[in-house]
Amino acid sequence: MTVEPAEPIGLSEHQRDAWHLARDFAQNEIAPHAREWNRDHHVPVEVFRKLGELGLLGLTIPERYGGPGLDATSLALVTEELARADAGTSVAVAVQNGLVASPILRAGTDAQKDEWLPRLASGEVFGCYALTEPDAGSDTASLRTRAEATDDGWSVTGSKMWITNGGVAEVFVIFARTGGEGARGISAMLSTKADGLTVGHEIPKLGLHTSSTVELAFDGLRVPREGLLGAEGEGLKLALATLDGGRITVAAQAVGIARAALDLAVSYAGERQAFGGPIARFQGVHFPVAEIAAKIDAARLLTLHAAGLRDAGRPHGAAGAKAKLFASSVAVQAADVCVQTLGGYGYSAEYDAERYYRDAKITEIYEGTSEIQRMVIARDLFGAAAR
Ligand SMILES: Cc1cc2nc3c(=O)[nH]c(=O)nc-3n(C[C@H](O)[C@H](O)[C@H](O)COP(=O)(O)OP(=O)(O)OC[C@H]3O[C@@H](n4cnc5c(N)ncnc54)[C@H](O)[C@@H]3O)c2cc1C
Repeated sequence: MTVEPAEPIGLSEHQRDAWHLARDFAQNEIAPHAREWNRDHHVPVEVFRKLGELGLLGLTIPERYGGPGLDATSLALVTEELARADAGTSVAVAVQNGLVASPILRAGTDAQKDEWLPRLASGEVFGCYALTEPDAGSDTASLRTRAEATDDGWSVTGSKMWITNGGVAEVFVIFARTGGEGARGISAMLSTKADGLTVGHEIPKLGLHTSSTVELAFDGLRVPREGLLGAEGEGLKLALATLDGGRITVAAQAVGIARAALDLAVSYAGERQAFGGPIARFQGVHFPVAEIAAKIDAARLLTLHAAGLRDAGRPHGAAGAKAKLFASSVAVQAADVCVQTLGGYGYSAEYDAERYYRDAKITEIYEGTSEIQRMVIARDLFGAAAR
């Protein structure tokens, strides 16, 4: 049994079509395999490519570059549906759009856009976003990957940690230090898989087993001058502006995981018998599930509100942070309620509850931890006094 949410008010035909296409594809082609793929740690590249064929991979890439040219609201709706079926698959799409195509669109040269956007839209290539390092996560301005100037560009040395899609990527958005210490010394670059770039093995992790997460090592990776993405020294600004949009998709992912957990809790409670009837007749079962249902609706509204602000070209950094902070917490709570509602079966790998429990947690960590979202929100409230 699934609890379909009411259609958001005011969707355009394009947004509704993308949403329904993603929902049908996710329920028919992803959900039936998600448990097995996660158990086997299978990264379903074949599904990512199918999403490319359907126009769902590079959703926000404009039509002139081969994408459907949809907006952040469509991306949020699609991400939610994919995450409801499998969180790892949804993050591959979120990274392709939000963290790779988005900075190329924002700061890329015409040549960079022509070279990469059509291939990212179709699924011919996958991209990754390499900001975090083993010793620099929340404190991005302290990153140490070094790009030394050469006659025709840069030679990059250093390493990156936790890079989503890294194991399947052919284009790498890399943030490296071309100048001195601090934020202004950082530049963004585009690189292909070339000599001097080593992709590490898949990092074993708590959940998201269908998502590739690797370490990258750079040892004299040559990036030509044309590989610079945006202006020299403007890399961190680009990285943070990119995350402003990315956080909305993580919030949507959290809503999707939470909805999957709610669906399972409701359907299980209707079937599980105890004390002479289904456990769905106990108030002790109703209340946590009812509370989560209300919170999921609120998380969804916050997410679509932030996406709507982005689509309207209005500031959306704090709204995205609020959506991610709230929705990620709701996902963790919903997964907990789901496991509890299923009792011992909730703890079993034969059911999906434990997968939701493991997958939900990441939404409180990546693209800025919950503590960092609170900082973003506080800075919006307090302005310079918060710095
Ligand atoms: C599965 C996965 C996929 C990822 N994908 C990518 C990717 O594709 N690209 C990429 O670049 N990165 C990626 N990341 C990295 C992710 O964004 C970072 O892990 C995250 O930003 C936190 O950084 P950190 O792990 O270094 O933790 P730290 O920054 O070391 O933080 C540790 C703890 O300290 C807290 N903390 C830190 N600073 C403050 C502060 N000022 N105030 C209060 N608390 C603070 C944090 O909230 C956290 O609880 C991924 C991570 C994971 C686990």
